[in-house]
Amino acid sequence: MRSHWKKQVIVLPSLGRVSSKMQQLILPVLLASFWTTCTGAGDWCYQSQFTCDHQCKAPDNWNHAHSDCAGRNQSPINIVTRKTLKDEQLTPFQFDNYQQIFRGTIKNNGHSVQVGVPHLSTISGGGLPTNYKAVQFHLHWGNNGGPGSEHTIDGEQYPMELHIVHMKHHYTDLTTALSDPQGVAVLGFFYERSNSANRKYEPIINALQSIKAANGNTSLHSVSLAQLIPAEQNLTAYYRYKGSLTTPGCTEAVIWTLFENPIPLSMEQLRAFSELKFHSGKQMVGTFRPVQPLNGRQVFRSGGAVILASSALLLAAIAAALGLSQTN
Ligand SMILES: [Zn+2]
Repeated sequence: MRSHWKKQVIVLPSLGRVSSKMQQLILPVLLASFWTTCTGAGDWCYQSQFTCDHQCKAPDNWNHAHSDCAGRNQSPINIVTRKTLKDEQLTPFQFDNYQQIFRGTIKNNGHSVQVGVPHLSTISGGGLPTNYKAVQFHLHWGNNGGPGSEHTIDGEQYPMELHIVHMKHHYTDLTTALSDPQGVAVLGFFYERSNSANRKYEPIINALQSIKAANGNTSLHSVSLAQLIPAEQNLTAYYRYKGSLTTPGCTEAVIWTLFENPIPLSMEQLRAFSELKFHSGKQMVGTFRPVQPLNGRQVFRSGGAVILASSALLLAAIAAALGLSQTN
């Protein structure tokens, strides 16, 4: 909390108009009140929620109540593509029942928007040790379409990130799955701003209007997981590493997959998420945890994933070979 303490001290020179005697009285009172309100007590929150009036534990203090948040295998991370290692075992995923249309409940849980999924859709292949079934999905976003993804690629933060949470097929609840170091597999998808609206997202975007308040929920009629993600043939390029939940308890039981191909949404669609509210009534924005240290972990890439720098070089080489480079 030292950084917040420093920030508040900057406020003090604005007391310049007050007499020095008054300052002698006011300063200790202010300092004492900052000390008590800015120590980060209360429930966990994102940095965007933290104010001295609203006591909550911002990401730097999550480990005070949840020791795993200070572990060595935390998520999210920044993926440096040139340091990734190609792994031939990272074959395409098999998605089963991802086309299945279901009726679900979409909820503003005070930290995010989350949809419970019937445990029918499963994933296998993709270098996973066994089959995993979908449990829920939720999103992380920025402020009105600004940077908001949790993972970053070569330092780039996308406007939003989708997490489809799966657990090993033989578990019946997430809590049990989290006690297994490989119990959970999360598929992460980035979003990119596009010029046209993504019609497949209309059910979700429309439902947001009804769940602006924290704990609000409403029904989603006929959605499938497949309609929310890129077509299967565009999902062969991905990154893989071992990490954690990105919210407290930060349990290190997650096999992470981040797909290279982003999902397009219009600016208006991205902005709709910023209309949701936290419990405090404040705008729900910046719902991402900052990137965490790798601590020596290796990030792998699938056969289909390209290193961005080398693909640029490859294109340059092709252009040169075709005589397109600087000839006209
Ligand atoms: Zn998440």
